[in-house]
Amino acid sequence: MLRPPAEPYRYHMLINGQWVEAASGQRYRRESPAHGVAVGDYPLADAVDTDAAVAAARRAFDEGPWAARRAFDEGPWPHMQGAERARILYRVAEAIRAAKDDLAYIEVLESGKPISQARDEMESAAGLWEYAASLTRHIYGETYNTLGSDMLGLILREPVGVVGMITPWNFPLLIISQKLPFALATGCTAVVKPSELTPGTTLRLGKFVQEAGLPDGVVNIVNGYGVPVGVRIGEHPDVNMISFTGSTAVGKQVIEASKGNLKRVALELGGKNPHIVFADADIEAALDAVVFGVYFNSGECCNSGSRLLVQRSIADTFVNAVVERARSVPVGDPLDEKTKVGAIVNAAQLNKIMSYIDAGQREGARLALGGKQIPSEHGSFVEPTVFAGVTPAMTIAREEIFGPVLSVVPFDTAEEAIAIANSTMYGLSAGLWTRSVDTAFQVSRGIRAGTIWINTFMDGYPELSFGGYNQSGLGRELGRVAIEEFTELKTIQVHLGKRTNWWHRPGHLDALT
Ligand code: NDP
Repeated sequence: MLRPPAEPYRYHMLINGQWVEAASGQRYRRESPAHGVAVGDYPLADAVDTDAAVAAARRAFDEGPWAARRAFDEGPWPHMQGAERARILYRVAEAIRAAKDDLAYIEVLESGKPISQARDEMESAAGLWEYAASLTRHIYGETYNTLGSDMLGLILREPVGVVGMITPWNFPLLIISQKLPFALATGCTAVVKPSELTPGTTLRLGKFVQEAGLPDGVVNIVNGYGVPVGVRIGEHPDVNMISFTGSTAVGKQVIEASKGNLKRVALELGGKNPHIVFADADIEAALDAVVFGVYFNSGECCNSGSRLLVQRSIADTFVNAVVERARSVPVGDPLDEKTKVGAIVNAAQLNKIMSYIDAGQREGARLALGGKQIPSEHGSFVEPTVFAGVTPAMTIAREEIFGPVLSVVPFDTAEEAIAIANSTMYGLSAGLWTRSVDTAFQVSRGIRAGTIWINTFMDGYPELSFGGYNQSGLGRELGRVAIEEFTELKTIQVHLGKRTNWWHRPGHLDALT
């Protein structure tokens, strides 16, 4: 079995094509949440480093390191041919795939997620870069040839500019790969701030983009805490857009910070996703999906199916079967190939989960499984937990726990299921299990969420857009719509031939009709 490294990996930050220390000279370390040993040693950036990164991204967008020495048509990154940008993005995808095992190992050490799952995530990240590469040659606007014989209208799609990207700790490489390649595909430049808990793979990605031939300054990576680095990116006047993934509370702070120069803001936020099982469902498949949906990534997952809505006529037998299956989920050392539920990311998250478990018991839900921290010499592990008899008003039915805790709420009719599903402030995703086409589509239409899985759960494809309703977010990632997110529209109107009907000339109104 793999073991943690004897010494922590030592990293630098990427600013303007250089691997640098923080201007202050400060560094910090990250301990593996499963093994209690230091696994990473990183520069600790502040606002000074952030400003340097934004300046580099701004220059790379406005002038480009190539502008002085290349031909006009090979100018800065936003003007590079789509085909050439595509080649670079494909090379990054290949580099991720080639380094899959190393990247997975680093993510396990920093996040506590299981190694087999981490490898799959690296594969998915490579797929996102490939898909984004395929879009670079399909970015186009509209033309209007219907405005009269002397007028032509064009709508160009142009990159929005410098994009600040702020990411969380739960899927570090995967989440930056939902943003960065799509922004690069359009010609944007970027300043990336990974979570200070899990920056290792994002920093390695910096090496890959350099080696793939990305011009200096197009991607900059600054390492540090949300305050001050994330805040500075959010408020910086030279940043045109923020693409943020994280909690709803911090998402609102990002909106506040962005007001100064009216940045475009895209937010992927939390969820309290209903997983709805009707009595006519394929029960065996639904059971497996419910267990996977809530315990995957220790429940530290925005898409976690953390609310099980089960039709009352099957509720007791279904919950008993969920409990039996949940008992057999292997929890333990995330470097063990057999592990499915690894360590909780840090003590703060552990305390948050345990306080929700307390709240569930205090408010009268029935603890059907788990509920305790698993004793361990080094790490923070929590038992897969099931609460039955939960009502929609209880805290554990409304708030995002971000841990391996399932709250079971019974319902009678499809209408009631929809009402309960829509009763939180979130609207990220939902799953539903039924053999009835009518029920499947009527309930899908009724639920206010960005993604609905029918007789499946938590699949994802680069082609399919992703994002939230309500307080689960603003905007969409992935798919062709990602290109719209990272582009501005510019209207150009061209007059053809000699124009005579100016407004001050007699008869011009007639000419306009
Ligand atoms: P946080 O919101 O705490 O942090 C997210 C990122 O924002 C981190 O890099 C953090 O930095 C940074 N940050 C913190 N404060 C500020 C600030 N004031 N201004 C700008 N940036 C700031 O989320 P977590 O990292 O705890 O991640 C968990 C949350 O992310 C959950 O709510 C989950 O649902 C959500 N999430 C949503 C996803 C989606 O696609 N919808 C996917 C994955 C997670 P640092 O922590 O380094 O200080």
